[in-house]
Amino acid sequence: MTKLFIVIPCYNESEVLFETSKRLKEKFTELINNKNITADSKVIFVDDGSQDNTWEIIEQLHSKDNLFSGCKLSRNRGHQNALLAGLYCAKGNCDAVISMDSDLQDDINAIDDFIREYENGYEVVYGVRNKREKDSAFKRVTAEGFYKFMNFMGAEVVFNHADYRLLGKNALEKLFEFKEVNLFLRGLVPLIGYKSAKVYYERNERFAGKSKYPLKKMLSFAFDGISSLSIKPIKMIIHLGIIFVFISLIILIYSLISYFSGNAVSGWTSLIVSIWAIGGLNLIAIGIIGEYVGKVFLETKQRPRFIIEEELK
Ligand code: UDP
Ligand code: MG
Repeated sequence: MTKLFIVIPCYNESEVLFETSKRLKEKFTELINNKNITADSKVIFVDDGSQDNTWEIIEQLHSKDNLFSGCKLSRNRGHQNALLAGLYCAKGNCDAVISMDSDLQDDINAIDDFIREYENGYEVVYGVRNKREKDSAFKRVTAEGFYKFMNFMGAEVVFNHADYRLLGKNALEKLFEFKEVNLFLRGLVPLIGYKSAKVYYERNERFAGKSKYPLKKMLSFAFDGISSLSIKPIKMIIHLGIIFVFISLIILIYSLISYFSGNAVSGWTSLIVSIWAIGGLNLIAIGIIGEYVGKVFLETKQRPRFIIEEELK
């Protein structure tokens, strides 16, 4: 039997918390009765510096029922940090932890599958949306483009997986060996390794209230993800520089032909070749400096160089 914790970051979620807690209570009762999880399993609500009475509701839930516990951040730090804080509270106290949104968009019934996969020996289980029927065409295209673009830019993420996932206690512990401050959990979790599985679910509409992720925040989130996981943009500068220098050589040949065949205005040949050559050399130089900056960037993260899964002694 698994001792399961669920971590739920909440930012101004007073409209949804009663319903969310009610449905979680039902789910936990069912899982406990079916002996899928232990009776001391818990739900941790993380209040991410809400301005409404989210924390009072969490206190109330906790005083009525031991299933619910809470953790309050001193101010709003954003979804990723709130989630990490909740995972920190869970670390060392459970066998497995599931992270979930508070707005019931993530299908609670997928929890059964998460636990089943965990018991089958998967240390990391990703919740993946199978359809996006309920999203508008715009949201669907931008969201799916987001995952493709992230992967293209060198930030490895699981397609259509947000932050609905299960981590076993080993993976959870290792996650905290990643000390970086710019947090992009869905890019970090694949770096931990371990055997992983996927669980497919349908994502619902928000139960109540408004999304705390407007487009502007989404874009900055994507940029954060790329810039905190990958130095591919720097490498692209060097590639561009090499292409420019190559173009300058082609132009050199072309303009020499024009010059000798008498078709060139005087001064044009040297000007056009130097523009491309200097441009290309500039880009290569910036790229080389960037390579070093990239190395410094990776060093400062002090990520674990390896994670040992098992040892035979
Ligand atoms: N959230 C948070 N801090 C923030 C923004 C959001 O803890 O600064 C929580 C929010 O309460 C919710 C989850 O993160 O439980 C996902 O946010 P939301 O549902 O607004 O995002 P969307 O589903 O629209 O992408
Ligand atoms: Mg949501």
